[in-house]
Amino acid sequence: MMRCPNCKGKDIGKIGTNQYYCWNCFIELSIVNGRFCLHQVEMDGSLSSLDDLFEENERQVNVE
Ligand SMILES: [Zn+2]
Repeated sequence: MMRCPNCKGKDIGKIGTNQYYCWNCFIELSIVNGRFCLHQVEMDGSLSSLDDLFEENERQVNVE
């Protein structure tokens, strides 16, 4: 089970190939080389990266 690195929630929906969306905290997650890349969707529809806010180990994809 995948967990959102931001809110630790499990309410994650698949929106594309290796792309997911957390319905709990409204961030977009994509998986690149076994790590999450996190993006926040801004009011104007653009994406801003949240990767800097997380440590490497927090971005690791844990599939249990
Ligand atoms: Zn979340």
